[in-house]
Amino acid sequence: MDHLMELPSMVLMGEGILDNSELISKTFKMGRRGLVVTGPHVWPLFGKKLSNGLDGVDLEIEMVEEPTVEVVETLTSNYIGKGINFIVGLGGGKNMDVAKVVSYRLSVPYISVPTNSSQDGIASPMASLRGADKPYSLKVRPPVAVLADTDVIRSAPKDQIISGVGELMAKVTAVRDWRLARRDVGEYYGDYAARLALTSANHAMHNAAKINQLNEEGIRGLVEALISAGVAAGIAGSSRPCSGSEHLISHALGEIAPQKGVHGEKVGLAAVLISYFYGMNWRLLIEKLKAAGLPIKFSDMGITKDELIAAVVRAPDLRPDRYTILHKLKPDRSRIAASIEAVDI
Ligand SMILES: [Zn+2]
Repeated sequence: MDHLMELPSMVLMGEGILDNSELISKTFKMGRRGLVVTGPHVWPLFGKKLSNGLDGVDLEIEMVEEPTVEVVETLTSNYIGKGINFIVGLGGGKNMDVAKVVSYRLSVPYISVPTNSSQDGIASPMASLRGADKPYSLKVRPPVAVLADTDVIRSAPKDQIISGVGELMAKVTAVRDWRLARRDVGEYYGDYAARLALTSANHAMHNAAKINQLNEEGIRGLVEALISAGVAAGIAGSSRPCSGSEHLISHALGEIAPQKGVHGEKVGLAAVLISYFYGMNWRLLIEKLKAAGLPIKFSDMGITKDELIAAVVRAPDLRPDRYTILHKLKPDRSRIAASIEAVDI
């Protein structure tokens, strides 16, 4: 398969880099008008740090509550032809997804400034938006630069920080699904991208206890692994190395049990069930979730067994085009219930 590999050209990471206004002004030397897409909780905390470094730049600030197609359309039409030179996504996944798609639509550079370590969209070309009836993910362009301040990330709520471990563990089953799709349906498979995603997962699992302690080295490794996983998606030209059947279960849970659980918690635990279907070492995944301080039962997130079963049944229908073990096995309710019982999640 021919595809364009697009990767971030600059990644700046370290303690307190957002306080270094000289560094920020150098990184952002790309015009006089910038748009910051951020959230109502994040901007009051970190907005000043960012604007200090952008002295002399006209900054428009947009707060995003939900990453919907509608929000993207509104921002695009509001800013088209208004001379915006660059867009910053300051915050977590929601803000980044919107910033990424709007910058793509306006054809201006996008700069990623993560304030937590909960998801792999920091450096990836993928964005997911909520549509009128279901969520969908689209490939746009990766950030030109990533500015990851580990002091800022460490100050995020702990459940958001550690959930990045679950997000990365999901790569174990995502890659397995990708290999299955190559074998069963002849889908394009890129071994380098797959191995890079697996390396990110292994790194997070290896450092799970350190991350749980919010140790600087652990958090730094986690952020690097999330960036690498995003780069793996950039190399693959799709989210294949990062997102498989465990993500489909999480998306289905988003519809069936909305507002319950954090993304990384759900995909990490769903990866345990998928590993069981594959006959892989699911116990290791449980052990690492525990070490990271993540939930090891869906009931810890308020998700009932019935909701989980319904989500596993629904998952393959969310993306019939993306072949996974769930598309192959088409497990019925009783098989799913027995498997959940076996891994005790
Ligand atoms: Zn994810």
